[in-house]
This record gives sequence, C-alpha cells and structure tokens, in this order.
Amino acid sequence: MNTLLCPRCDSPKTEKVSDSPVKGKFEVFKCNNCNFVWRSTEDLTGIAKNLEYWKKTVNMSMISHGKTE
Ligand SMILES: [Zn+2]
Repeated sequence: MNTLLCPRCDSPKTEKVSDSPVKGKFEVFKCNNCNFVWRSTEDLTGIAKNLEYWKKTVNMSMISHGKTE
C-alpha cells in the first residue's frame, strides 16, 4: 500500500474514510495529523501553499505535547 502524504501538512498519517456514491469516481481521504479531508479528484495546488504554516503549527503542537520536562 502506498503511503499518501497529506497535501496540507505532508504527514503520512492519512487514511481513506469514504468512497464516492458512484464507485470508482473518487475517494475521500483524511489526515489524522491536521484533520484535513479531501477528495482524490480535488485540485490541491492551492492547498500546498499552506504547507509551511501547517508544518510549523504541527511541529509546535508536537513539541508542547511531547515535552516531559
Ligand atoms: Zn495533514
């Protein structure tokens, strides 16, 4: 199985959540990192512009959650 990277935050923690009502038209994916949901047929070129923002946001929340000091 291919690991699908989230188009918004580049996370590999993605999963397929649904299929289109008409089978084979599109699939719906969800990112468990930033909760972004998208269809396989969507144009995601605009989404990628937010990549840096999401990387920073996710990294920051990871750091604050992961600290044990
Ligand atoms: Zn994501």
